[in-house]
Amino acid sequence: MNRISHWIDGKVVEGTSDRSGIVWNPATGEQQASVDFASAAELDHAVAVAKAAFPTWRSTNLSRRAEVMFHMRELVSANRKEIASLLSAEHGKVLSDALGEVARGLENIEFACGIPNLLKGGYSEQASTGVDVYSIKQPLGVVAGITPFNFPAMVPMWMFANAIACGNTFVLKPSEKDPSASMFIADLLKQAGLPDGVFNVVNGDKVAVDRILEHPDIAAISFVGSTPIAKYIYETGTRNGKRVQALGGAKNHMLVLADADLDMAADAAVSAAYGSAGERCMAISVVLAQDAIADQLVAKIQQRIPNIKVGPASEPDNEMGPLITGEHRDKVAGYVGGAAAEGATLVVDGREGAPDGGGFFLKPSLIDHAKPGMKVYDDEIFGPVLTVTRIDSYAEGLDLINKNLYGNGTAIFTRDGGAARQFEFDVQVGMVGVNVPIPVPVSYYSFGGWKASLFGDQHMYGPDGINFFTRSKVVTSRWPDPSTSTIDLGFPQNR
Ligand code: NAD
Repeated sequence: MNRISHWIDGKVVEGTSDRSGIVWNPATGEQQASVDFASAAELDHAVAVAKAAFPTWRSTNLSRRAEVMFHMRELVSANRKEIASLLSAEHGKVLSDALGEVARGLENIEFACGIPNLLKGGYSEQASTGVDVYSIKQPLGVVAGITPFNFPAMVPMWMFANAIACGNTFVLKPSEKDPSASMFIADLLKQAGLPDGVFNVVNGDKVAVDRILEHPDIAAISFVGSTPIAKYIYETGTRNGKRVQALGGAKNHMLVLADADLDMAADAAVSAAYGSAGERCMAISVVLAQDAIADQLVAKIQQRIPNIKVGPASEPDNEMGPLITGEHRDKVAGYVGGAAAEGATLVVDGREGAPDGGGFFLKPSLIDHAKPGMKVYDDEIFGPVLTVTRIDSYAEGLDLINKNLYGNGTAIFTRDGGAARQFEFDVQVGMVGVNVPIPVPVSYYSFGGWKASLFGDQHMYGPDGINFFTRSKVVTSRWPDPSTSTIDLGFPQNR
């Protein structure tokens, strides 16, 4: 049985806690590896290594740090198929989707290649006579990342690229469900010339996470996962004096107005709802369809569903893989099974006809007439289930989105530029698409939701990522000039 351990101080370190987890092959339902679960003492060891590596790494000049990122860029690009295969094997997503994940992660390494420019501060000459003032951004020290199962390569890249480029040292606790990509990336970082100890991977569960939350030498925590855990991480981490950004779950609504291009809207809804088996925090899970076009739109979505090829990633034609675990598949199937009793209409039942052979498969489901108060509408299902809610007006659709617990992503489909602009202005959501169903910002903007989709002040990656992983210092400086030296006990002022 393949065993996945930790990566500490530039090498694989076997766990000693005698605790481990199962890594499934979601396409067959069989165990393919076991992953070591760290004890608090093992986490402490990784933090001590990262702490020891910090003084040298933060003193390493910016050109050299950028050079490591440039090398890493080349290595990830050259190994993108290997990384994607690891993602497919453990997560189950099909290869084209996995390659997309690597490409979107790579953008963040490319962004971090510009670190000399990104860390530029401000400078004000002659703020007072003979006095100059300037600001600098300095790294925080040891920082930690805790990541979810659904993007095992991209989400770590959201975090470590900027964190390391800024001069921090890093401890990553990946999802225990698909940890291999992080170990592979750690090896690539070493090949890229990153000194040992700057990037470490500690595999594990709540024991490792709880130690991260209380460890006195961890300055900041970047988290992505479900809302209840995000809230717990934010509250516990900040109570322990750490800087925390904790991104949570989502329920992303797509508002389709009567004037939209309905074929384009149907294609977009199907792609965004069922891609990656709906296990994306930016998946569309609710279509809000204006009454005038709702029947037509539901019919167009329904027509497209039978063409989606569901099966293992090992077959290149497949478009949608299995869910992450049997338990999760059963939970998602439970929502589908309960929809009719809640008063919704089950238009396509994805429990029927899923590939057999032991894998954690479900086919796409479509549920019409969903409403607030029904579990299929209220809960983040995180599977290939799309619900439709009928609305009579833009105002009703907007109200539903703004009342929702979550505010991660949303999209409007319309030909009316004025309506789209009003939507951008009104909507209480962090990432908005106009005729774009999955508006994940490019790496030179920042990623983050509102409401229960993000706890903390800074969004992830891009300019916010640089701010999150640095703290600013302002220097007021004067060089000795005997002619200006006096004793003055008044408060320093410039006029
Ligand atoms: P999760 O919250 O179960 O796990 C995330 C991380 O937290 C993992 O590393 C896990 O080991 C750890 N964890 C889990 N339970 C814990 C506990 N009780 N105490 C301490 N640590 C714990 O999330 P998941 O199932 O891996 O990922 C899916 C969720 O992540 C969905 O809700 C999805 O919307 C969300 N997500 C959000 C974003 C975003 O950017 N907002 C991106 C990707 C995924």
